Amino acid sequence: MKTAIITGISGQDGPYLAKFLTEKGYKVIGTTRSYTNSNRKNLEYLGIENDVLIEELDLLDLANIAHMIKKYKPDEVYNLAAQSSVHMSFEQPIGTFYFNTQSVNNLIECIRLFSPHTKLYQASSSEMFGKVNHLPITLESPMNPVSPYGISKMAAHFMIKVYRESYNLYLCNGILFNHESFLRSQNFFIKKVIRNSILVKYGKLDKLLVGNLNIKRDFGYAPKYVEAMWKILQVEKPDDYIICSGKSIMLKDIVYYIFDKLNLDRSRIFVDEKLFRPNEIYDIYGDNTKAKEILKWDYNMSFYEVLDILLLEELNFMRNKNEI
Ligand code: NAP
Repeated sequence: MKTAIITGISGQDGPYLAKFLTEKGYKVIGTTRSYTNSNRKNLEYLGIENDVLIEELDLLDLANIAHMIKKYKPDEVYNLAAQSSVHMSFEQPIGTFYFNTQSVNNLIECIRLFSPHTKLYQASSSEMFGKVNHLPITLESPMNPVSPYGISKMAAHFMIKVYRESYNLYLCNGILFNHESFLRSQNFFIKKVIRNSILVKYGKLDKLLVGNLNIKRDFGYAPKYVEAMWKILQVEKPDDYIICSGKSIMLKDIVYYIFDKLNLDRSRIFVDEKLFRPNEIYDIYGDNTKAKEILKWDYNMSFYEVLDILLLEELNFMRNKNEI
């Protein structure tokens, strides 16, 4: 039986990955900064709360990580823990940079010192590329991040490469573009649009407030993206991969699609410039050819297919909770 540690288990990707790995027969240890009932809720939603061992771990504490790595000597570590919100990274630039880089430095140093056979997946991000002149994004595209979050992920990304090349460790970056699911936290765009549009539909909210809708993003379905994380660690040589849908869609088209599905009048969409980001990427999409060819990652869902799944799941959930 293989052992995997997933940091940041309480977020969006952690539970889907944990489900995928337990179904493959892995022993899964999930870590959280602080153990509370609320950070079990996503595992409970997937019905896997008893299949995962939860440990408290402070990724800023080298000794704490060393203890964990020595205790489990994991075959694989999936490092998903991060301050993951671009918006929040403008409010907390120093905290975001510090956590998102130092946590990675600590982890790879512990793997180097105490468990060099352990394979590590690092959650890199398309936000590292920022403003680009040429699309689609490939592994050769220059990085020009436009947020403290993007900069923090870029620093961690290069630390992974340096350790891989210098110490012959199996460390990989998965450069994931936006991916969504029911488990996405409520401060992210698509989740917020879906929930608030449903509340407008059922008379619980007057209008849908949005930021800049004239920007384009490449997004996909999280449960399929976590499969790529696992595949990245199964190839013979450690390497970096771009995981994305390969296309982009205007945020306005996402909102209009949800509104049309709910038969809502577009006059109830209000753009609030206070919600605009200080610095913005206007269009971004990636090239997933390497992932499809080498990892045999078979993603082919359309944006609208994903939105249909998310809308239906949210409606069912809100009905069951008597929110609507
Ligand atoms: P998420 O929902 O925000 O979960 C991340 C988890 O990290 C949180 O639940 C939190 O769990 C933990 N965490 C540890 N230190 C933190 C800190 N200082 N501030 C905030 N949270 C902290 O993220 P996700 O969507 O699952 O994404 C997983 C990873 O992929 C992240 O590293 C993210 O940056 C990266 N990524 C995500 C996307 C995407 O579209 N979702 C795209 C590219 C890259 P506890 O509170 O329980 O410790």
